[in-house]
Amino acid sequence: MSTLATDASERLRQIIARAEALYDDLDFKVVKEWKEQGKNRKAIGFLPIYVPREVIHAAGALPVGIMGGADRIEIVRGDSYFQSYICHFPRSVIELAVSGRLDACDGFLFPSICDVVRNLSGMFKMLFEGKWTHYLDLPQNFDNRLGGRFYKNEMRTIAREVGKLTGVEVTDKRLRDSITVFNENRTALRRLVHARRDRPWEIPTIDYYLLLRAAYLLPVEEHTAMVNEYVELSAQAGRPRMDNIRVAVRGAFCEQPPLGLLRTLERAGCYVVDDDFVLGSRFIEQDVDHHGDPWDALADGFMNRSLPTASKYDQRGTKHADFVQRVRDFKADGVIFMAPSFCDPALLDQPMLVKALENAGIPNTSFKYSEDTGQFQVIREQAGTFADALKLWGKA
Ligand code: SF4
Repeated sequence: MSTLATDASERLRQIIARAEALYDDLDFKVVKEWKEQGKNRKAIGFLPIYVPREVIHAAGALPVGIMGGADRIEIVRGDSYFQSYICHFPRSVIELAVSGRLDACDGFLFPSICDVVRNLSGMFKMLFEGKWTHYLDLPQNFDNRLGGRFYKNEMRTIAREVGKLTGVEVTDKRLRDSITVFNENRTALRRLVHARRDRPWEIPTIDYYLLLRAAYLLPVEEHTAMVNEYVELSAQAGRPRMDNIRVAVRGAFCEQPPLGLLRTLERAGCYVVDDDFVLGSRFIEQDVDHHGDPWDALADGFMNRSLPTASKYDQRGTKHADFVQRVRDFKADGVIFMAPSFCDPALLDQPMLVKALENAGIPNTSFKYSEDTGQFQVIREQAGTFADALKLWGKA
């Protein structure tokens, strides 16, 4: 290996070690440290999938993604808040809350994605009495005069309430500046997504995933620098190309798969070239206009240019055709549907997506997971068989 490749590998290892330390930081120490570095700094926790982080940033606060506890916390009290036949995610979020780990957050945002999250927002109102807790009703009407107007009001509520905490007024200028900073982050994430699509052997799924997760804890400027450096160095490290198939993954937009599951997919012979992990970090893929009215621009980004997902109404009726096209654009050989057990939005969406793939002759397979799944042998066999079948016959 050349000196250049050795140096690049070492630096990549350091970047991912930092991202993994953030992933493991279930006490949100990095948020506490950020708050200690300045006067009246506030942090706003938010749940999947998407909130307008630009508005929180413009109000001088740190948006902090709350993504559950994965397989790293024992659920002691979380189970007593929910019935047994729902997903695991809200239990670990409750466990984080009642164990004091979320105390660094000064407020919470719950975007409207499902009834579970709606109920969770009510529980937070009781658990964190005195802290600002807001259920963010995202529009399901995509007419600018209706849904757009409604969404702008929601964003202004966030700006006003977070501004009260920080003492910072969200002016149009501040919001435009925040949009610019997040556009730089969008550019970096596009580079990452495209580099992985074009050279998946250079960007392992684990690295890619940990970089996305870092977006939910680091200040946006720091995250942009981290992703840019990673992408640049990944092309120099000389990682070997394996005889893997290329897969797109869908269903993992809220409760996140454990890291062991992501490693298992690659070991089973699958390069993940497209996915919906940590979807809110890149929900609006293209830049948001930062010249005109910033509220209009953010509303337009959400309403007209955000990625399709199960919890967003498909008003134009193009979601299934768009999905097939995206699978083709990303040159995926097949699709793996991996959804959290009991996730209504993901599991209701899946049959229609499967039908669209079957009509297009695109192979697919599916399984369910939980954020604390610890046994991967069955998944390895299933994904491995899928990969072998595609390599041998081009179909599952
Ligand atoms: S995993 Fe699914 S059902 Fe559970 S909170 Fe998330 S979107 Fe709702």
